[in-house]
Amino acid sequence: MLVIENIGELFLPEARLLDAYLSIEGDHIVSFGEGPAPKHNGDTLDAGGGAVIPGLIDAHTHLVFAGTREDEFVHRCAGKSYLEIAKAGGGIQRTVQAVRDASLDELVELALPRLARMLSYGVTTIEVKSGYGLTLRDEIKMLEAVRRLGELQPIELVGTYLAAHTLAPEYRDRRKAYIDLVVSDELMARVAEEGLAEFCDVFCEDSAFTLEESRRVLEKGKEHGLTPKIHADQITQMGASRLAAEVGAITAEHLEHIDEGGIEALAKASVIGGLLPGCSFYLGVAQAPARRLLEAGVRLTVATDYNPGSSVVESLPLTLSIACTQAKMTPEEALTGATANAADALLRGDRIGRIARELQADLVVLETPNVDQWLYQVGRNAVRAVVKKGRIVYERAP
Ligand SMILES: [Zn+2]
Repeated sequence: MLVIENIGELFLPEARLLDAYLSIEGDHIVSFGEGPAPKHNGDTLDAGGGAVIPGLIDAHTHLVFAGTREDEFVHRCAGKSYLEIAKAGGGIQRTVQAVRDASLDELVELALPRLARMLSYGVTTIEVKSGYGLTLRDEIKMLEAVRRLGELQPIELVGTYLAAHTLAPEYRDRRKAYIDLVVSDELMARVAEEGLAEFCDVFCEDSAFTLEESRRVLEKGKEHGLTPKIHADQITQMGASRLAAEVGAITAEHLEHIDEGGIEALAKASVIGGLLPGCSFYLGVAQAPARRLLEAGVRLTVATDYNPGSSVVESLPLTLSIACTQAKMTPEEALTGATANAADALLRGDRIGRIARELQADLVVLETPNVDQWLYQVGRNAVRAVVKKGRIVYERAP
């Protein structure tokens, strides 16, 4: 038994308990409440008056990649846009080349330190997409890297098949042939059969894939048991959120350019909206209309979109603070978006994302006495300890 004592604020997130304790047996939570812990002969973790929250869940990342693109960052700082840089031969295609050139072992080696840093920020579950390989061999290689990474360190990883991220360069004049490959038995069916991914994603965007191409990929994914999700309404408005509702997607993510019709469609079909405030912050563009989505009754996740081009932001807590200051979400709304709502978005709400009896003991002990003070201190890493499946997997040196 492990008992966390002296908790300043326990964030469930449905309620906040003050001066609380929490007991863990094996890998799950057995009891918690306000006041001192009942007598026990287990181990003790002293929270030192700090807040305790559910382990953070980053529901949208591209964290398996090779190469860096800081030269593009410099161009963007000097005023060039993401699309201008992509048209000049930069952007995703450079990362595609670097990932194709990297071995499976190299992809794993590059990602491990990123995961170690993310753990130190309190992240215990991460969704990771393919989509920088764009060939049979390289898409499988990326997803195998995700699987191996999940075995090598404490964070639980969730694979998403995103071969429809951008058109592979070899298929520039053969769009249909590329989609044929994306939905083929050799690739999509194999990904599903080998359990390399649970979700199927597409970049539905003027510069990537059309509504009809996206629909074909997502419907075929559903036939193979891959839950659909969409990169929707990021740069242009072409009805991608309505498509998300039509195909029964679990989430529509980005939403910087969602319109009223799209908001209504998400609300009506109970599609979760996936906000990526760090991406807008990084690119210096307008945030998704978080308040309007919340008013319409759309549940929101908040994730980093961590990737080497448009959101080189590993820190989910920083992203939550950006959600507060730039997208006008309260700390509670933002944190719920990276815990309970993110767990539901990854179809894990019955196991993680909340503090409740019988749920898995994925927890973060903070140095600040409450959640509000944590996100108010923008950019500070206030994580004191991280518990994954009932085990202390990270502790900040005193
Ligand atoms: Zn993304």
